[in-house]
Amino acid sequence: MARPSALLRIAGLIVGAALVITGCGGNSGDSAHATSTPASAPAAAGRTDDAPAPTPGALPRIAILATGGTIAGKANANSAVGYTAGEATAQDLIDAVPGLDKIAKLSAEQISNIGSQDMNDEVWVELAHRINELFDRNEVDGVVVTHGTDTIEETAFFLDNVVASDKPVVLVGSMRPSTALSADGPANLRSAVQVAAAPAARGRGTMVVLNDTIHGAADVTKTSTTSVQTFVSPNTGPVGHVDAAAVTFLQPAAQQRHSHFPVPGGTPLPRVDIVYSHAGMNADQVNDAVGHGAKGIVLAGVGDGNTAKPVVDALSKAAKGGVVVVRSSRVGSGETVRNAELNDDELGTSASLYLNPAKSRVLVQLLLANGITDPANVQREFADRL
Ligand code: ASP
Repeated sequence: MARPSALLRIAGLIVGAALVITGCGGNSGDSAHATSTPASAPAAAGRTDDAPAPTPGALPRIAILATGGTIAGKANANSAVGYTAGEATAQDLIDAVPGLDKIAKLSAEQISNIGSQDMNDEVWVELAHRINELFDRNEVDGVVVTHGTDTIEETAFFLDNVVASDKPVVLVGSMRPSTALSADGPANLRSAVQVAAAPAARGRGTMVVLNDTIHGAADVTKTSTTSVQTFVSPNTGPVGHVDAAAVTFLQPAAQQRHSHFPVPGGTPLPRVDIVYSHAGMNADQVNDAVGHGAKGIVLAGVGDGNTAKPVVDALSKAAKGGVVVVRSSRVGSGETVRNAELNDDELGTSASLYLNPAKSRVLVQLLLANGITDPANVQREFADRL
């Protein structure tokens, strides 16, 4: 059965074929922190000519917030084998892209300089506060976050849920360090700035840009350990493409985006563990999670969010004891369907639908931080996304 977004996508392709959008972003005001973001004039689909504005003053203002990752990695040898992530600064990254200052008026900030395997709640909250501040004060027209690729999808999803502005947030990384032959970071950074500067990027929330492709935060996921073509959006497909001349969105921005949460007041965020299911599984992981104080558990289940009987029983016991339990899938694409192979109504669990385990974990953390724990409400929040 075709999903609504698939139908919209087809419609968007038809619209996109008829539309060409030109011009650069202006410096208009911003309405952050709405619980829901109606895109008053949804950005259309189509190819956006990003020719620079005639005077530097008219260039879109883009802040580059650097967090580290391979894009900022350095090695001694001309090889992607053996390097340290998070060595180059935000300014180093900008300096490596000739002509970037012709696309946008840039500012650079170093938020952290870590490999994204070490990404954590503190950096997420700091990033979110800083982005909201930049938008609230109307100091920028878009934000680019440089980030390691390992957890870029989680950070993107977190920001997509706590930054309510119409202005774009674009996360970018690279698969090869800055010192590698054919380093992909400079081209990816250029693409990300192009997207953040494009008027058609408004109202699309947080995106991830790598290898000429624009992905939405909810569906994007890393699929190859080492290839430069690693990110895919397995359920929806990418939202667009970018090349040296243009930014192309395949469908119009949504009329109504999902609700947003306030940036959590404190860290660490509530503990949510992911339990990975496999053949021959027992309930130890679930019991360990509960024993260590997890307030939420996400099942990376087999198939349609399923798992062995002892694990199902332990999950249900945890759910009935007040732990938020969400069933997701380790498969990598497709919907984890509510009340299909397992009866969520009876178990007290929720289904992640199209969110993968890593993003389900982020959403459960945000729900817990906002006091949303009732299974019906948890399920509603999952249904509101993707
Ligand atoms: N381990 C690195 C990181 O996520 C990998 C990368 O950036 O591609 O920071």
